[in-house]
Amino acid sequence: MSRIGGHLPVGITPYYAALIDPTNPLDPTRKQMVPVTDEFVTSPGEADDPLSEDAHMPVPGLVHRYPDRVLFLVTNFCATYCRYCTRARMVGQTGEYHFNQSQHQAAIDYIAANPQIRDVLLSGGDPLSMNDDRLEWLLSRLRAIPHLEFVRIGTKIPAVLPQRVTPALVKMLRKFHPLWMSIHFMHPVEVTPEVAQSCGRLADAGIPLGSQTVLNAGVNDNVETMRELMHGLLKMRVRPYYMYQCDPISGSKHFRTPVEKGLEIIEGLRGHTTGYAVPTFVIDAPGGGGKIPLVPDYYVGRDGDDVVLRNYEGKQYRYRDPVAKS
Ligand SMILES: *Cc1c(COP(=O)(O)O)cnc(C)c1O
Repeated sequence: MSRIGGHLPVGITPYYAALIDPTNPLDPTRKQMVPVTDEFVTSPGEADDPLSEDAHMPVPGLVHRYPDRVLFLVTNFCATYCRYCTRARMVGQTGEYHFNQSQHQAAIDYIAANPQIRDVLLSGGDPLSMNDDRLEWLLSRLRAIPHLEFVRIGTKIPAVLPQRVTPALVKMLRKFHPLWMSIHFMHPVEVTPEVAQSCGRLADAGIPLGSQTVLNAGVNDNVETMRELMHGLLKMRVRPYYMYQCDPISGSKHFRTPVEKGLEIIEGLRGHTTGYAVPTFVIDAPGGGGKIPLVPDYYVGRDGDDVVLRNYEGKQYRYRDPVAKS
């Protein structure tokens, strides 16, 4: 791992680096992992913390944006550093975030003291970069909080360091059910036998798996690539969860796609393939408004007692829906 001018570190696992085609300068994995000078150009609307996470932390590392659930940042270390990272301001850095035991304890104390919190999402950094003992300590402390119904882990490690998903890890994790996992996937090239094995171990341990994918220009911003990825995920028992508009972090312009591109991709999936293969397209609102879903419009309008709809092929259908007379 090396640093460029105090910026987001460069780091990639040998396994993931091996997916890059060395002869292709436009290789999608290369674009996500290898920095280019565009990264140092800040464009209008960009910010280091566009989602205002730091302003929503009652204790360091704990983002409490929605009343009933919290985002618990447990480490700033990742197995690979994505150049479009939402948390580029903190990952791989030393600084105000220490992520040590006393910080973990302060977050756990806050969750224990706030009974409206029923859902904790562990993220970072990558929680699976911590060793099994540390992770087990955290999960057991959280599980001991009676009002916590549900814990989930957000991670990229099953996709970029599948060797980390050992039988010992899943044996430990399965003690803490209900435990869910969201795995960061970007491109169909990531669907390999090794990753199928890591996801298979987690699924066999009864951990429901969801995916999170960020729209990236030149990486996955077309219907065919996204469809192939979603089909690959279903085969590995990963249910597509979110497809994100790329957050406007500083230096991300070369990654961002027009919002309409995301709508076009959803429209190209919905009805054309398995419903389970269609993620929810969201924009995480700058300023901290949370995730806002965007859906292509299938409602054409009302015609008297009929609602006019269009289907995935663009054909119009009527649904009789008399407006109640009062
Ligand atoms: C994404 C996120 C969550 C979880 O959102 P879900 O829609 O429930 O998956 C919770 N807190 C914060 C701050 C988030 O960014």
